[in-house]
Amino acid sequence: MLKRHEILSWLRENDPGRLAELWQRADEVRRQHVGDAVHLRGLIEISNYCVRQCAYCGLRASNDGVTRYRMHADEIMDCVRLARHFGYGTVVMQAGEDYGWSAPAMADLIHQIKDETELAVTLSLGERSDEELLLWRQAGADRYLLRFETSNRTLYERIHPSRGGRVSDRLAMLRRLHEMGYETGSGAMVGIPGQSYEDVADDIDNYADLDLHMIGVGPFIPHPDTPLSKPGAAPTIDARQQVPNTPLMTMKVVALTRLTCRATNIPSTTALASLDRDGGRVSALARGANVIMPNMTPPDYRRCYEIYPAKACIYETPEQAHALALAEIERAGRQVGRGRGDSPHYLAAAAK
Ligand code: SAH
Repeated sequence: MLKRHEILSWLRENDPGRLAELWQRADEVRRQHVGDAVHLRGLIEISNYCVRQCAYCGLRASNDGVTRYRMHADEIMDCVRLARHFGYGTVVMQAGEDYGWSAPAMADLIHQIKDETELAVTLSLGERSDEELLLWRQAGADRYLLRFETSNRTLYERIHPSRGGRVSDRLAMLRRLHEMGYETGSGAMVGIPGQSYEDVADDIDNYADLDLHMIGVGPFIPHPDTPLSKPGAAPTIDARQQVPNTPLMTMKVVALTRLTCRATNIPSTTALASLDRDGGRVSALARGANVIMPNMTPPDYRRCYEIYPAKACIYETPEQAHALALAEIERAGRQVGRGRGDSPHYLAAAAK
């Protein structure tokens, strides 16, 4: 297991020869613990309404420039069928924190997916109450994704304000999701203004402590209609301490996460592909990642789901997203995963 000082020194390493060693170690651990299969998850961005005011996200409630949409259950089912048609084992339903999706309506939709298909269902719907999360789990939802965004509590409070008198504590929520029997996924952004190398090392520590089954990391990408793209919005820290929001830094975090949480699922994220269109997702597959999430959202909606600008594949059809993912897996010399692609780490715990 890596020690903290080793993590910090890898994060600051820029020599390509030395980094080649990190990539190779991460790739080897990935191969040993999760194999060569790359699991595909069909991502459906079901609504871009959001009640929150996150300083980083283009969907924040006060951004009037967004055309808001909420997909109907029938439209979502069409995307689910497409994902199944492509042979995926999982659909991921993601949205802003949108109470226009009532808990019972979501439970009905989960039931419908489970009645009609054998797909695993992942939810990424923000900070809903324990009652709602339990209802969805009972309806058959398998997994929940909730990034804690950063381990630095002061920075977190600044960029992700609490709401309605309820303190936002995503670490506590992840523990409760775990107890409810969800396969839990989390992650953080890399290169948030005000985020230090120590903070990123803390993120990696937290991934291990939280016993996560999925860990997604992506570079922070400033969105011009958000406070965090403006100077002075974040605490200023010494320039030598500030983590850059580059693809290279993100890949170091992916590789170190793989070395730390060996049997977890790690996606090669869209944010990474957005910054490095030609090679981002393929490189991440060679540096620890084992999951791709092709976007199944109909293009007319997808255009409006602008959490950050110039999102990769924004004008692509689901068919194109699927073909691209297959080509990337081929380029990486890997195989398409079959079945649900549960994390071996989760399956081992469930068998106990
Ligand atoms: N409403 C849900 C889903 C949010 S979108 C939730 O809050 O959990 C999924 C992820 O996109 C977020 O967790 C965040 O890590 C990432 N994201 C949002 N804005 C971003 C930006 N400007 N740059 C990079 N990643 C961003």
